[in-house]
Amino acid sequence: NQSLHDLDPEVAAAVDAELHRQQSTLEMIASENFAPVAVMEAQGSVLTNKYAEGYPGRRYYGGCEHVDVAEQIAIDRVKDLFGAEYANVQPHSGASANQAALFALAQPGDTILGLDLAHGGHLTHGMRLNFSGKQFDVVAYHVDDAGLVDMAEVERLAKEHRPKVIIAGWSAYPRQLDFAAFRRIADEVGAYLWVDMAHFAGLVAAGLHPNPVPYADVVTSTTHKTLGGPRGGIILARKDFAKKLNSSVFPGFQGGPLEHVIAAKAVSFKVAASEEFKERQRRTVEGARILAERLTAPDARAAGVDVLSGGTDVHLILVDLRASELDGQQAEDRLHEVGITVNRNAIPNDPRPPMVTSGLRIGTPALATRGFTAEDFTEVADVIAEALKPAHDAEALKTRVKALADKHPLYPGL
Ligand code: PLP
Repeated sequence: NQSLHDLDPEVAAAVDAELHRQQSTLEMIASENFAPVAVMEAQGSVLTNKYAEGYPGRRYYGGCEHVDVAEQIAIDRVKDLFGAEYANVQPHSGASANQAALFALAQPGDTILGLDLAHGGHLTHGMRLNFSGKQFDVVAYHVDDAGLVDMAEVERLAKEHRPKVIIAGWSAYPRQLDFAAFRRIADEVGAYLWVDMAHFAGLVAAGLHPNPVPYADVVTSTTHKTLGGPRGGIILARKDFAKKLNSSVFPGFQGGPLEHVIAAKAVSFKVAASEEFKERQRRTVEGARILAERLTAPDARAAGVDVLSGGTDVHLILVDLRASELDGQQAEDRLHEVGITVNRNAIPNDPRPPMVTSGLRIGTPALATRGFTAEDFTEVADVIAEALKPAHDAEALKTRVKALADKHPLYPGL
């Protein structure tokens, strides 16, 4: 029963250093968040020891009476949260949820239609090296010159290729999707509609983004992005898909579920139903709008900085650096230097290679969780705008970042 520090000081040191990094810098990777201590407590609990192949009440192992309770709570809460008839809370990650969902809806060799990775889609939506791209016949739709998903192209490609599945969802897109239009097109060509709401699920839970559940045949999500829970995946669907989806997750792709993570998911769904969570999501979206405004101001434009689609409706913005003297890598490094963590991101029709890129993806969920207000986001946005100018005072910006981090202590008890 030795503590981590006693048993393994090397690993403990890495964990401590990571805690310090999270506390002392500003986390603006759009897919990250800070899980509540209660979520981490459940995730670090004795439930990690339990084998529980199967589903609550129908397990292949004895002694599942307590993990059954936790898993059923998670299922019931997430169904309530999103108004879904069916939920599977066992997928180990977003990619695992997507794999199980896709194989429940289609057979290898079938055609799928998803948003191009380079235009904001996810690997699991048909990227060449991913299972989805290797095992399915992929057709990709794109964003138009205004940076919006081109629904006319979606319709044209759907009619031309008659996909088995149409995928609506994104990893890097600053606007809301038109689920009703996707549904109409899917119905016209007899396709299933799968919505991957991994990024915006927290906004949906808070009522700040349309809910895809009433429109889609299947909805997948991660639990660790805007939703703010432990790292993991979920699948929601209508009742008639329950059997197929359950058997696709287990025994199709997974063995024993991670019951400690499932318990942590349950806790995060409770949090996501609270007023405090809604208020946090409002600050998240407001923060992203403030960033978009600041980075389209005349001095930012003069430095060659712009924002794709001209703004945002969600928790992130995509910065367009095609006219800047900085490429995505250099801009990411500049912000890292002053204590702000973001990721470089290819933008549609990016002239630079994928490891360099001409864009940045900047998100506000983690800072909103940390308590950042509109005033704080205004200051962050100004620091970012200054850092992306050709001449900048890195030391002064570091001081401003530190002041913001100190103002909103993260995990003070840890
Ligand atoms: N789906 C979307 C839209 C995502 O953005 C991501 C993660 O970036 C995933 C799925 C995959 O989630 P995970 O990293 O948990 O496998």
